[in-house]
Amino acid sequence: MKLAVLTSGGDSAGMNAVVRAVVKAGILKGCETWIVREGYEGLVRGNTDAETPSSPLLSTTLDVKINDPTFIQNLRFGDGALLRDGTGDHPSGRTLKGRYIVRVGWDDVRGWFAEGGTLIGTARSQAFRTPEGRLNAAYNLIKEGIDALVVCGGDGSLTGADIFRAEWPSLVQTLRSQDRITDEQVSRHGHLRIVGLVGSIDNDMSMTDLTIGAPTALHRICEAIDNIHSTATSHSRAFVLEVMGRHCGWLSLMGGISSGADFIFIPESPPKADPWEDAMCEIISKHREIGKRKTIVIVAEGAHDVNLKPIRAEYVKDVLTDRLGLDTRVTTLGHIQRGGRPCAWDRILPTLQGVNAVDALLEATPDSPSYMIGIQENRVRRVPLVEAVKMTKAVAEAIKVQDFEKAMSLRDPEFRENLEGFIATSTLEKQPLLPPEKRIRVGIMHVGAPAGGMNAATRAVVRYCKRQGHTPLAISNGFKGLLDDNIHELSWLGVDSWTVRGGSELGTNRVLPDIDLGTVASKFQEHHIQALLIIGGFEAFNALMILEAGRVHYPAFHIPMVHIPATISNNVPMTEFSLGSDTSLNALVDACDSIKQSASASRNRVFVVETQGGMCGYIATMGALAVGASIVYTPEVGINLDTLRDDVKWLKKRYALDEKGKSEGRIVIRNEKASTVYTTEVITKIFKEEGGSLFDSRSASLGHTLQGGVPSPLDRAYGARYALKSMAFIEKHHEQLREKKFKARQAGPDSAAVITLQSAALKWVPVREMVEHADMKNRRGKFAWWGKHKGLVESLAARPQLV
Ligand code: ADP
Repeated sequence: MKLAVLTSGGDSAGMNAVVRAVVKAGILKGCETWIVREGYEGLVRGNTDAETPSSPLLSTTLDVKINDPTFIQNLRFGDGALLRDGTGDHPSGRTLKGRYIVRVGWDDVRGWFAEGGTLIGTARSQAFRTPEGRLNAAYNLIKEGIDALVVCGGDGSLTGADIFRAEWPSLVQTLRSQDRITDEQVSRHGHLRIVGLVGSIDNDMSMTDLTIGAPTALHRICEAIDNIHSTATSHSRAFVLEVMGRHCGWLSLMGGISSGADFIFIPESPPKADPWEDAMCEIISKHREIGKRKTIVIVAEGAHDVNLKPIRAEYVKDVLTDRLGLDTRVTTLGHIQRGGRPCAWDRILPTLQGVNAVDALLEATPDSPSYMIGIQENRVRRVPLVEAVKMTKAVAEAIKVQDFEKAMSLRDPEFRENLEGFIATSTLEKQPLLPPEKRIRVGIMHVGAPAGGMNAATRAVVRYCKRQGHTPLAISNGFKGLLDDNIHELSWLGVDSWTVRGGSELGTNRVLPDIDLGTVASKFQEHHIQALLIIGGFEAFNALMILEAGRVHYPAFHIPMVHIPATISNNVPMTEFSLGSDTSLNALVDACDSIKQSASASRNRVFVVETQGGMCGYIATMGALAVGASIVYTPEVGINLDTLRDDVKWLKKRYALDEKGKSEGRIVIRNEKASTVYTTEVITKIFKEEGGSLFDSRSASLGHTLQGGVPSPLDRAYGARYALKSMAFIEKHHEQLREKKFKARQAGPDSAAVITLQSAALKWVPVREMVEHADMKNRRGKFAWWGKHKGLVESLAARPQLV
């Protein structure tokens, strides 16, 4: 198969990762790989240069086998490298001028991960919107012999892809009737295999939970708001921020949750109150009355009121200034949101989707629909392109006819949950919502090592408690603090800036309740703790197990108890993501990007990077995928002499194949517990010794830096979601207990649970059930959903091909 990839429409972070994955996966599957520059425009223009450099490989069938010489040739074949310097010219005389459809090889896409935007260019093509334009596009593809196309772009680009696919047979017929192509070409190109990947910062495509570029845009937004916080507080100012999102409020909503904004405007759910100005002013003035010194309002660019009258940032500013007398400024984030280095998920997801796209093309038949590759329930999924485009249009249509309920229902369930969460944690009620008998004293503690998002979760619990009328009690320094009566009530305003704070505001340690279970129980009674929320990692899970088992002896533990997984190791069983794991992954990506740069700056160098993670290889594996590491060592798989010998063999072969005169850095990631014998030091020395004149080796231990500084936006947003799900659990079980007479007050086993994320949905799992899924000895879950990605890391480094 001859496979081409293009990026179209507005650029987004992660597009380069798509191109890299498609090229690499394509070559691995035996395809010839091409890129189309400047989106559809490049397809329409084609290669005007009559002397398109022909390749010795063009007529060869590429069937990649182990050690296949064609694969090795493919490493450096292609002109993709010319794209990197931006000029398209090379001293050798090679040029991209007049060439829009360019053959690329494996090494052309090396290091593309860390770059924002799209290196192959994107454009808005008027020509492609016309039948003549598309006819030329078809001709150019056929002329180059390309029979499969990956399009990465927004809904406009994918609509274009769908039209192109539908028209293809008639375009081929027209080209034949005009004698521009031969009968043989007609029979070879009767069917166009096309697949779409959603590159869009707005997260506005239906049937995928996350579009490529949206997580990075959210990072940019949060960075900007984090910076604004300090100046807003200093001057006691209000800031109105306009963020992107014409039909989709995802960025505004997630930015609002992650930064702890006071009010947000999104197109799908305009403020119900009419006029909304009164409602907004009431909420914000209440915040100011209790002493809040800053106000943040986020407006999506497509925001409007219930009557579809646009709501502009400038107008919101005027309202805040005139009615509340606030010193208000407007900040329009604009194109800043598109730029910058892609975050970890905008490297991992495009990689997984790009690989899947190649499979989809290879499996396509003339009868199968064209697919869009998306993410649903934390899995890469294929959905018919037509349906996805139709459903996306349906959201815009629903908004247009003011059917906001429908618009919301067409978004994924997480969206609604997040919106409800935002309202519950940002609105201060005049009166508590619950009657006195339903109010609960909730003990909150952090256990284990700090993790990003712990404070954000605590903030959300406190805010929710205050709204309902519960009493949120901070138990500082975990169980040790409890024994020392280190307990105090938290306030709505006191936790205001906790979303952005790393570490643990409550203080945390690894002490478990069995340090003195009897006294722990008596302290529960003394402080009238009616529900317990533990935020932490495997220790927190352990603590919950001990407390639940302790119920046979201590009535004080017959209360709802819940654990929110928060650990950078992501080793809590049954949950896909613990709080802190995303922050950690991003810290790893940042560190490795810098290390890689240093590694290739002087001479060929292999950096062995050691990560934390205990006996769980999550951070190492996903980190390896996110930085394009060559090798990853995990505790689950371990290290032995045979693998090490193969790794050395691979490194030697790979360095020998590199372009002469250019130094290359390569990253090997080793989890701290991958082996007790083959330590980071030993491996580094082996590589150094074996590398000889080919390459050098150094090590770097990331240690506690992996806990990250400022928590990532996703950890903050997840923190709020986990918190609210925990509170729903506590309220439900408290109510069940309240209905029982005091003497018979026995909490059932399901009233001690862990909040888990499974297939992207939050679920309560009783701690007893969790035990069955836990590998207690190794302190991790029995099943690792990410385990298979170790193989992908190696494939994308072509380890199997070269060893
Ligand atoms: P995005 O893909 O980011 O939504 P656009 O809506 O501008 O951005 O679409 C990008 C390109 O996709 C357009 O410039 C055009 O070439 C092509 N395109 C969009 N809609 C159509 C259409 N209905 N028919 C043909 N091509 C289209």
